[in-house]
Amino acid sequence: MLSDINIKTRSQIEFIDITSQVQGVIDKSGIKEGICNVYVPHTTAAVTINENADPDVIRDIITRLNEIVPLNGNYRHTEGNSAAHIKASIIGASETVFIKDGRLVLGTWQSIFFCEFDGPRSRRLFIKLITQ
Ligand code: ZN
Repeated sequence: MLSDINIKTRSQIEFIDITSQVQGVIDKSGIKEGICNVYVPHTTAAVTINENADPDVIRDIITRLNEIVPLNGNYRHTEGNSAAHIKASIIGASETVFIKDGRLVLGTWQSIFFCEFDGPRSRRLFIKLITQ
């Protein structure tokens, strides 16, 4: 089963906690055991799993990414968003999470974040559930 969710981003760079939306897809499916793959079909956005408790963790990730890959650099790509492409590749386009008892198996402090690097835009995210 392949599902998708729509995400509207509001800033140029933004991490959005999508855990409850992904869990909602699992709830609707009725799947109790399996694997959930989350995939971003974009070249300037990404998905990652990290801390949901202290928002400074996400702020620090964004700040350091901007230091490593500055918005304006000596880039060749004429569209002007090379930094977003590079950040998207550093973070990656997919994550895999196990499903147990109908719930995502995440650590207490973990959430799934959609990572926007060239917003604001309307984005999609695919969710593939695989039962055992
Ligand atoms: Zn581009």
